[in-house]
Amino acid sequence: MTRRPLVAGNWKMNGLSASIGELERIVAGARMLANVDLMVCPPATLLARFAGAARGSHVAIGAQDCHAQPCGAYTGDIAAEMLKDAGASAVIVGHSERRQLHDESDATVRAKALAARRAGLTAIVCVGETRNERDAGRAHEVVGAQLEGSLPDGGHDFIIAYEPVWAIGTGVTPTPDDVRGMHGFVRARLAARFGQMAEAIRILYGGSVKPSNAKELLTVEQVDGALVGGASLKADEFLAIAGVYR
Ligand code: PEP
Repeated sequence: MTRRPLVAGNWKMNGLSASIGELERIVAGARMLANVDLMVCPPATLLARFAGAARGSHVAIGAQDCHAQPCGAYTGDIAAEMLKDAGASAVIVGHSERRQLHDESDATVRAKALAARRAGLTAIVCVGETRNERDAGRAHEVVGAQLEGSLPDGGHDFIIAYEPVWAIGTGVTPTPDDVRGMHGFVRARLAARFGQMAEAIRILYGGSVKPSNAKELLTVEQVDGALVGGASLKADEFLAIAGVYR
């Protein structure tokens, strides 16, 4: 099966109204990139504005997190339904910064992925091992457990992002062989759990992807695109990464 690649940008806690120009440049550049889906995940404050600016293009707008409940007394939180209402079509769940800084467990991530499904959003479920876990030879075991605990049953309507924690924002990346090994492992786990349907699930690589290493990382077998942090903030760099699929 051929899966259409996706390059998604996670803006994290970056971006003000003035950043709309960067999105407009991405939307303009996307017209030249017919073979790849693009997505920008701005902070929640910019979702509606970005969704308006991207309407009619093939740049989707995603959110970075959601609450598991549809509404209620959860001061400061945002429901998946609200993200959808603001124009998002997807939401990142279980990013390592949420797992580490907000103590999110696999069960929490699974509840959020289910909330995304309930609201009609595609969940981008992040998994990845720490440096210590990799050095201890436990990378597959850790990622396997995260997949087991974080993915909801009853459908295959999500995207996986494999993001080794030690590669995020560090400029250090795994070797193509390591990426091949982990993506093959994730694909096998998906097949064991979801059967033939697993073939449709996209597995993105994330962690220090930039224009200079995009080709080497994104042309690895079973890599269906990228989740890009820092380099997604500049339209030129983001488009250059997506340009691997030209
Ligand atoms: C991320 O945070 O999802 C990420 C991949 O960040 P960076 O590209 O900056 O390493």
